[in-house]
Amino acid sequence: MQKIILHIDMNSYFASVEQQANPFLRGKPVGVCAYLSPRGCIIASSQEAKARGIKTGCTVAEARRLDPAVVLLENEPAKYRSTTERIFKILAECTDTLEPYSIDEAFLDLRGWAKNFMEAEKIGRELAARIKNEVGEWLSSSVGVSYTKFLAKFASDIGPRGGMLVITPRNLDSLLAIRPLTDAWGIGRAMAERLKFLGINNLLELKNYNADKLKRVLGRWGYYLWANVNGLEISSVSRGSAPPKSIGHSYCLPKKTADKKYLSSLLYKLCEKTGRRLRDLNLEAQQIRIYASYIHDGGISKSFKTAEKMFTTGEIAREALGFLAKADLAMPISMLAVSVSRLVPVSGQLPLLENNSAKKGLSRAIDKINNKYGEYTVISGAMFGLNDLAKDRIGFRKTVGLAQL
Ligand SMILES: [Mg+2]
Repeated sequence: MQKIILHIDMNSYFASVEQQANPFLRGKPVGVCAYLSPRGCIIASSQEAKARGIKTGCTVAEARRLDPAVVLLENEPAKYRSTTERIFKILAECTDTLEPYSIDEAFLDLRGWAKNFMEAEKIGRELAARIKNEVGEWLSSSVGVSYTKFLAKFASDIGPRGGMLVITPRNLDSLLAIRPLTDAWGIGRAMAERLKFLGINNLLELKNYNADKLKRVLGRWGYYLWANVNGLEISSVSRGSAPPKSIGHSYCLPKKTADKKYLSSLLYKLCEKTGRRLRDLNLEAQQIRIYASYIHDGGISKSFKTAEKMFTTGEIAREALGFLAKADLAMPISMLAVSVSRLVPVSGQLPLLENNSAKKGLSRAIDKINNKYGEYTVISGAMFGLNDLAKDRIGFRKTVGLAQL
């Protein structure tokens, strides 16, 4: 049976929900912020705000400079969560396999529910219309239909806003040919640079590149990207291939120190790095290990199971920083490391009914911004005076433990 996947992505979601809730905001530039302080940043802007250059990642101060009339609101997760619940309820009527991906995105497997792409396209249009009629007229969505999850998401990303795009093997190449590498899910700026180094300049060139060579140069991830644009479905989490056993980062300090404030800010950054990879892989962790080695022999470390599963940077940092705060440092520290383990896929079963789903959505939104605009455009580490430190180009060493096959 032909595999048919539909991906739906709500447009300017948090801002649209705000405009839906308050008709006076409709047609006006609206920015939903992480915080309203001048250095706080926009996590979602309305279409009107985008037209004025106020984009996700802008600071509050920049947004006001771009348009003094912009309406800036602090985010209200409960509001978005309840709207998402209503949207997902409609989606769940069209298929038995709905996979919520984030607070405003979901995949629907339509195999058996739609005979062909044309029928899937019709379902997509109906879904978008029902969301407007039943949840809110101001809520527009982009829909993508294709034969893999990657291509369905790619279709909704590059298709018309508020509209729909179907990608079949027939139009795939012509769509890939005009698309920059970073349009693909999973290719950030750094990866795009590595691909360009190999002479790959757009997504069609990636599709036609020699897969073995990519695997040799870029490892499994390189193959994964190649498979994605070739319409091969590899889903590292849900397809049961071995997920990593642990994820972590370590850092050797250029300045050996026992200054807890400085160490805390570094540790926070390691937690952010770790959290981002955890979220990238759609995993949650329930074990953490923190390690700090002394300039001479030995060091301090602790490994423990956490009461709650960790997903956001804040959740990881709370555990790690709690340990450091209590630790007795006998001498200066030369290396810090954090890793998380006991990894499980984020539950795909109506996670939006959980209290923490909006927090997860927010975490993912922040990751997206950082992936797009560079490291630490958004940080929640103002508490540690991290801002200056975060600008440093510090090379962190990644650690990944792969589960035994
Ligand atoms: Mg969206």
